[in-house]
Amino acid sequence: MNLLHKKVAVLGCGRSGVAAAHLASARGAARVCIFDSNPAAVCSDSSLDFLPGAGEKEAREFAADLVVISPGIEANAPWSLAFTCAGAPIIGEVELAFRYFRGRIIAITGTNGKTTTTALIEHILTSAGKTARACGNYGYPFCEVALSDPQPEFAVLEVSSFQLETIVSFKPEVAVWLNFASDHMDRYKTVEDYYHAKLRIFENMAKDQIAVVRAGENLRSITPRIVEFSATSGSGILRFESGCIMQLATPVADLRGTALQQAHNAENSMAAILACRAVGLSDRQIVPFLADFRPPHHRCEFVAEERGVLWLNDSKSTNLHSTEAAIRSQTRPIILIIGGKDKGLDYTPLLPLMHGKVRLCIVFGQISQQLEDTFGAGVETIRVETVPQAVKVADQRANIGDVVLFSPGTSSFDQFANYAERGDCFCNVVRNTLAPSTSN
Ligand code: ADP
Repeated sequence: MNLLHKKVAVLGCGRSGVAAAHLASARGAARVCIFDSNPAAVCSDSSLDFLPGAGEKEAREFAADLVVISPGIEANAPWSLAFTCAGAPIIGEVELAFRYFRGRIIAITGTNGKTTTTALIEHILTSAGKTARACGNYGYPFCEVALSDPQPEFAVLEVSSFQLETIVSFKPEVAVWLNFASDHMDRYKTVEDYYHAKLRIFENMAKDQIAVVRAGENLRSITPRIVEFSATSGSGILRFESGCIMQLATPVADLRGTALQQAHNAENSMAAILACRAVGLSDRQIVPFLADFRPPHHRCEFVAEERGVLWLNDSKSTNLHSTEAAIRSQTRPIILIIGGKDKGLDYTPLLPLMHGKVRLCIVFGQISQQLEDTFGAGVETIRVETVPQAVKVADQRANIGDVVLFSPGTSSFDQFANYAERGDCFCNVVRNTLAPSTSN
């Protein structure tokens, strides 16, 4: 793509917008300006041309040749479309980076497990002596990788449905589809819209390229060759048996005693193994490095074990599907703490799974009333307002042998800035609550 003499409008002043602006400037654009509709928005880099509080009038006046949009902004919103009045195309930050990245790309999508799998693939590749950078929705913009000199051999790219909405020619060498479940119903009109946005990960791939897909996902008519895995169905190249990943009758990796031994992390491991095989690594370059991998914080993370009660922080659970995985992976009676912002999800499907596993449900936050109405009929349910109150009730009610599982199942924005702040709050309150007995 030739950006010489071109005017580029970058929409959104977050980290990916800033990275896109730097990349466009470095590749010769005549003028690059970052726009944000929020008058209070702040751009972290004062060297960049930045217009906060921009309206549709400013958008039209800029007369961009190319519009690069950040994933949080909808491309078909009137404000975004105003930038295209002179006929400029809109692309996403991932698409821009793709056009300038010369290395190999492994892309990972799915409703849950993206960040864990992205980190694991990067860990395996770098442990095997390759240069690799986890990026994308991972929190490190792909444009920064495209700008780096030298570029790494591999970009391990976590891609969300929002990012896939604005690709054009983006084409990974290997694409991973971990799973699919209802989510983001505050952005999409239907679940199908969300599904189709995600499916775009395969749209430019060729027949001889590889799609690593969870068995049973029933992906319709995709071009790349499908390689399947599953920890639950027994079908696919890799399956999970008694804590081991198996291929036919041959053990591939023993996950017992590792941080990946839960079924959902076994699936993330299988996906990582198949993706790394697809780019040419042997199992001897892959499997030994599963043992020392730690999933990122806030994902079924150990907080404390006190007086026979285990406390787990799964604050990154922002939909039913991840809370379901967290419940399934527990062997102890569960006190479940769940709640947060209303994002239009129906929690009824969780109820059958809770029977016999969850002995007490503590609901909090904006959706607490909805959750109490949904779960109350089947499981003892106590409603509180806040996370500290939930911890207090859990502490009062926990018996020896229980696990207190903080798996909110929705986003945190009703009470917190993000899931990490919510998880930190939970961990701090748990440690403070348990502190008096630990100091004895
Ligand atoms: P994502 O980046 O897709 O949000 P994460 O790796 O950050 O995925 O994990 C998000 C949540 O999903 C956490 O609660 C985690 O325990 C859970 N999780 C991780 N992998 C899977 C999986 N394969 N299936 C279901 N849930 C998962």
